[in-house]
Amino acid sequence: MADDKALATPAPDGNVAVPTTAARKRDEAAARGALSQVLDTVAGFGVSFGTIFRKLETEEYPEEKRPTAKRFHGRHQLNRHPDGLEKCVGCELCAWACPADAILVEGADNDDTPLDEGGQGRFSPGERYGRVYQINYLRCIFCGLCIEACPTRALTMTNEYELADNSREKLIFTKEQLLAPLQEGMAAPPHAMAPHMEERDYFLGKVHSASPEQHAEADQLTEGGAH
Ligand code: SF4
Ligand code: SF4
Repeated sequence: MADDKALATPAPDGNVAVPTTAARKRDEAAARGALSQVLDTVAGFGVSFGTIFRKLETEEYPEEKRPTAKRFHGRHQLNRHPDGLEKCVGCELCAWACPADAILVEGADNDDTPLDEGGQGRFSPGERYGRVYQINYLRCIFCGLCIEACPTRALTMTNEYELADNSREKLIFTKEQLLAPLQEGMAAPPHAMAPHMEERDYFLGKVHSASPEQHAEADQLTEGGAH
């Protein structure tokens, strides 16, 4: 009560108004709040000034593209054996592993019956191949579970990340879009397996490029308009 009297001020009618403890605390809190606001503002300008004088890190994208991390998960790729046959065996394990239900696979039997006798052709060394293969990039979350599930390393991911487009249909990639381009020494399927080789020889690394017979078969089909 002694403190309250010390702060008392006379009112116009001569009575002395004594502030309560609660009122005094309120006034002190208000004074502290005003000071804190001023300090916050000064601190905010400090951040601005610090940023103004910092070296700029402007990226000239898309003219200049920075390389991604080596193991960056980008667009998928369906790989080929060294003679051009496809590594995919149409097993659908990738589709089953996908948590986003983004992959569609339809397998089919390879057919060694000559095409002019109604055969459908051979696209992979084994019994089956992926006849239909689609990845829906509207669904894909680039988790990589599909490539872990693939038993033949047919499916891998590239570092390509520029996948934006202006329609939903264009973001469903087909087998033709996903297949790795033919490299030197490869022949475009369908064609027979490498001479004197079995399926397992492909995975043992015994096939290094397409044989003259395989090239001749592929060329014959191209000339005949079978592709
Ligand atoms: S990366 Fe993940 S989400 Fe995308 S297709 Fe593969 S499993 Fe599915
Ligand atoms: S990409 Fe691999 S997992 Fe998927 S269907 Fe082909 S072989 Fe099977």
